[in-house]
Amino acid sequence: MGNIGNVPNAAVTAEELMGWLRRFHDLVIKNQAELTQLDSAIGDADHGINMARGMGAVMQKLDGMHPADVNELLKTVAMTLLTSVGGASGPLYGTFFLRFGRAAGSVRELDPAALASALRAGLAGIVERGKAEPGDKTMVDALVPALDAMDTVIKNGGDLDTAVTTARDAAAAGRDATVPLVARKGRASYLGERSANHMDPGAASMALLFDALAAEFAG
Ligand code: ADP
Ligand code: MG
Repeated sequence: MGNIGNVPNAAVTAEELMGWLRRFHDLVIKNQAELTQLDSAIGDADHGINMARGMGAVMQKLDGMHPADVNELLKTVAMTLLTSVGGASGPLYGTFFLRFGRAAGSVRELDPAALASALRAGLAGIVERGKAEPGDKTMVDALVPALDAMDTVIKNGGDLDTAVTTARDAAAAGRDATVPLVARKGRASYLGERSANHMDPGAASMALLFDALAAEFAG
């Protein structure tokens, strides 16, 4: 990470975004068994496997890559996820990174406000593709509060450090709040009321994405 310190408008570079993705990969591997176990309760026991395969493929693609800009990097990530993951999560995360990159554009770095708005474009892609609303017990339930928290910090003049740590905490709270919910989207919805009292696996992996973001850009 660069010398961001407490400068409110410090930018994140494409190289640092690669560092974030590396951290996400590492967290997915570390939590692979748990993600799969969550999916075994309300799905088909493959979420950890899907995410590990997808992010493993991304790491291979990124190895030795020197992206010209943020969009090129995130487009590569997106296409790799779209082509390497069979489950619902592949197209959803793939669309997230595709829209995120497109919104960021062909730039070398993003200031916190640009990062937040590009992430929100990623959310819009997930919603367009999967039609989930907050409360449907999906990855959206971790992503929406994280982005809302980030926007609030930035709007109030907070720095990147505060924005990403607040987003991380909000994502974790959103993940935890999926436990009592009845699933209305994806495989878990087939279980109806029986999907309650289990944490959503996609919300758990999305919270890891924000753990990785905070680890890369805070402190
Ligand atoms: P699959 O359900 O095809 O086995 P995964 O197990 O990899 O795929 O991913 C399951 C996760 O995907 C769920 O826990 C949920 O968070 C997310 N998900 C499923 N359908 C949707 C949807 N329509 N919108 C948003 N997220 C979804
Ligand atoms: Mg599954």
